[in-house]
Amino acid sequence: MCSALQQLPDKHKKILLIDSHQENQSRLKSILEQHPLYQLTRCNDHVEALLILQQSSIDFILLSCNNSPLPCTTIISDLHKFRPNTPIIALSPHITEEQGQKLLTANATDFLSYETLNTEIFLRTLRHAELTIKQSTEIQLLRHSDTLAPVGNRQFFYLTLLYKLNSLIQQGRQLALITIDLDHFRKFNTRYGFSAGDEVVLELGKRIQSSVSNDEMVARIGNDEFAIILDLPSTAPLLDTVKSLLGKLIATLKSSYTHSQSQTQIDCSIGAVLAPEHGSEVDLLTKRASMARMQAKQIHGCSYSIYRPGMELTSDKTVGLESEIMTALRAEQFVLFYQPRIDLRSGKIVGAEALIRWQHPTRGMIMPGDFIPLCERNGLIVPIGYWTIRQAGLHLKELKEAGIHIDRLGVNLSFRQFKDDMLVDTIKRIIKQEDIDTSVLEFELTESAIFNDENHVRECLDSLAEEGITFSLDDFGTGYSSFSLLHKLPISALKIDRSFVSHLNESSEAEEIVRSIISLAHNMKLTVVAEGVETREQLDFLIQDNCDQIQGYFYSPPVSFSDFKRMFPKPQ
Ligand code: C2E
Ligand code: CA
Ligand code: CA
Repeated sequence: MCSALQQLPDKHKKILLIDSHQENQSRLKSILEQHPLYQLTRCNDHVEALLILQQSSIDFILLSCNNSPLPCTTIISDLHKFRPNTPIIALSPHITEEQGQKLLTANATDFLSYETLNTEIFLRTLRHAELTIKQSTEIQLLRHSDTLAPVGNRQFFYLTLLYKLNSLIQQGRQLALITIDLDHFRKFNTRYGFSAGDEVVLELGKRIQSSVSNDEMVARIGNDEFAIILDLPSTAPLLDTVKSLLGKLIATLKSSYTHSQSQTQIDCSIGAVLAPEHGSEVDLLTKRASMARMQAKQIHGCSYSIYRPGMELTSDKTVGLESEIMTALRAEQFVLFYQPRIDLRSGKIVGAEALIRWQHPTRGMIMPGDFIPLCERNGLIVPIGYWTIRQAGLHLKELKEAGIHIDRLGVNLSFRQFKDDMLVDTIKRIIKQEDIDTSVLEFELTESAIFNDENHVRECLDSLAEEGITFSLDDFGTGYSSFSLLHKLPISALKIDRSFVSHLNESSEAEEIVRSIISLAHNMKLTVVAEGVETREQLDFLIQDNCDQIQGYFYSPPVSFSDFKRMFPKPQ
């Protein structure tokens, strides 16, 4: 077969061509003749390829798609599963953009048509594929272990929980999600400084890790917030096991913490939720675990609380708001504020994000964080979402009439809106009724919205994209952060979450992640928007690293529509 491969010196890049015809090999060989760095070898089919991959290190896989008995996408998926970090380039006499997208969705790194193949294109494709894989591997590595405590990180937590939930019932399992944080940690940081705070978080992580067995997963999911996933067979007494673990945690966590040679007593709060009993979706479970933790915070000292159905109604500071939301919609108490998006090359406003506020007659201005989660739970986000799209469209028309041009107007779409079967039709109707300029409209989606039902979301997006609407991936970095999603969906912009931007110039990990995200996004021709830019230093970092656009208090907080209009010079 290909024993020559093992004898090659390391500096060679080894290319494996999977193709049952000799002539393509000759063609590629002649292209590579001038480039001794690359060494080409051929095998007939992907089974042979898997054997070679097992025995030798291969730097690139080239797969000819035209003469294989299996669909090329199936082979690519198999090869990718086997060697996720080896670039796979699909080759065919002619590949349309649509076919190419399918190949990328199946995890090809790139695709090439023999028709247009020449040395320059081929070498560029190899370099590009290598870079793409390198960057996405770096990001994965940075993300899977926490930077401070000896536990998993947020990304690892989400992926593990998602993975376990997906197979929970089929595999006859049940699980508990436990989240833990310190009480008044912010005050502690302010009083003793961040490095003392880091010492405490490190110690907290170690104590949690020591309280659980090796099978249980521990991750740091926020500043001082940790999560444990307890996974048991469905026949085990879950509640009893959880209670016993919670007791053990309280006993370990309540002793005082040492930092900079002093000792401080810091209380903690723990919330727990059970699956499938209390839910089987990532977002719902994490929300309910936080809710239980908030309840525990009401109790003095280190304490825990386990979620109970109906807890929403008593723990929410939004008690009573639910019944008022429909009235609010009719009484036109919602308003849209706008936060400008600035292009870093021109320094000009090129877009905005529409952000909803509730002008409550007695409670004053209520921020979306206090009512959107509630509306997502009870489904009222569906009519509110339509109101937002219509209102943003009307404002867009008003801007146009005032001679003001923006390229993009971001409107947030929540995961819950995709559960509405009428979503696409209703949006299309609103666009028609209000004559909305769809080329400016950009829906902002979060990764959790997409992961909930990827195929359905893709169909919706494809159908809306036909109307000219564009899409951005919001809060990038906080969820699953999967670059493969970006291949699969018609997404043209990526919004880096504020939590990374706020740590620029403080944490080299955050800087590296932001740098990698920007570079990889640019490779994929995506516009990168950094959210939550508050300082000159953050801005300078983003300019230097070629970020395209920013949003944040440094330039402007969200403002009323009339104030937003005033940000533009009056047309002559
Ligand atoms: P988001 O989509 O991530 O929106 C950005 C949030 O960051 C906004 O909060 C904005 O005011 C805030 N922000 C912007 N720049 C800075 C900064 O420099 N520093 C800090 N600390 N914060 C900054 P807001 O308006 O409270 O909205 C919160 C969230 O509520 C939004 O997060 C979005 O998820 C949701 N939301 C807002 N409007 C809508 C809506 O119409 N529909 C849906 N489904 N969700 C909405
Ligand atoms: Ca957003
Ligand atoms: Ca965001």
